[in-house]
Amino acid sequence: MPGAYSLSGLSIVTPEAVIASGSLQVDQARIARLGSTARFDVRFGDGYTAFPALVNVHDHFNGNYLPRVGPPPGEFYLNWSNWEKDFKSSELLQVERPKIPPEDRYELSAYKNLFSGVVTANDHFGHEFNEPFIPRMPMRLIGNYTLAHECSSFDLRWGEGIEIEHERARRLNWPFITHLEEGFDPESQDGIGVLERLGCLDDHCVLIHCIGFSDEDIEKVARAGASVAWCPASNLFMFNLTCKIRLMLKAGVNVAIGTDSTGTGSINLLEEMRFARATYRRLYGEDLSPRTIVDMVTRNPAKAFRMERDIGALEPGRLADVLVIRQSAADPYESLLAAHTEDIELLVQDGTPILGAAEREELFTARGARASRVKVHGREMLVKGDPAGLLVRVRRAVGFRKVLEFMPLDE
Ligand SMILES: [Zn+2]
Repeated sequence: MPGAYSLSGLSIVTPEAVIASGSLQVDQARIARLGSTARFDVRFGDGYTAFPALVNVHDHFNGNYLPRVGPPPGEFYLNWSNWEKDFKSSELLQVERPKIPPEDRYELSAYKNLFSGVVTANDHFGHEFNEPFIPRMPMRLIGNYTLAHECSSFDLRWGEGIEIEHERARRLNWPFITHLEEGFDPESQDGIGVLERLGCLDDHCVLIHCIGFSDEDIEKVARAGASVAWCPASNLFMFNLTCKIRLMLKAGVNVAIGTDSTGTGSINLLEEMRFARATYRRLYGEDLSPRTIVDMVTRNPAKAFRMERDIGALEPGRLADVLVIRQSAADPYESLLAAHTEDIELLVQDGTPILGAAEREELFTARGARASRVKVHGREMLVKGDPAGLLVRVRRAVGFRKVLEFMPLDE
């Protein structure tokens, strides 16, 4: 297995510039340097671009299933707890989904992310629930975080309580993650007030949704250096609106895009990026630049998770988490915004490929990466693990030919 190899002849997106016909050298799990090639070189050529692998700031790995469950036609929720009631009493949750064991539900979620170029994601569930699954995922599920479900009297009581969890985050230099102000009743809208009164509003906070924020809340979040997870598809589906995203960006808040679960959100992060762009245009009549959107799924979530030394940029010293796509436009950022699974040429985690075109088999073999062969929208691809086998197990469990759009396999 070559410890060192290089990717060459492709455009490389770094925080400073897009390097044309560049090269990137990997040593073991990390990026060793840019601009040089190793003896084992994977040559691309014009029309390919390397980005840092994507980061999904907010997902529910136990909850990615379809179809969505939402409010009756023409109605929307006052807060997330109304959705929770509809969801828990749905036939889907009562009868169908429980037939699939949690380890398979987690693996489905891992593939939802992997097939959209995501190497790193956060599952916003308690450690007591997801700990056994984290090491078995075919991509990286973050384990170093603390959490509260939400900051209200009716939250779901995940973790040990806001103050204890937040204190642990401070001590360990981890993020403290909580849903916040996901609704419009007075208590939901006091989320920032709760965090302030407990002395827990600071740069460890990763605040999910924030649709009830006032202008003053946004100022406070910016001053505290906290991060916000923006999940526009889920917000629009449940509430018919999303957070004040333009004001947040203007205030300098660190915003990352998350999918939420497919129970309410987009089918994957690439779709959520497009939805975010369309939503911004619809709300404000102006374009959110593709580069800003790409930052929201690379550098910004890396900062939110306090993992900037490891992920979020193609820089020497960071982990070799790389996403190579086939370019479809002159602008590399536009190309990523337009990409689907079959446009992914190569996806690498810790220096080892986890998804790629079948023509890249040599690198899989050289790194000892075990992969299965699948067909995605007509394209032969190699993928870590066995997603086709997983889909067979899921169908056997539910007793019919279940289709899940986030598993893009031709059959
Ligand atoms: Zn959520």
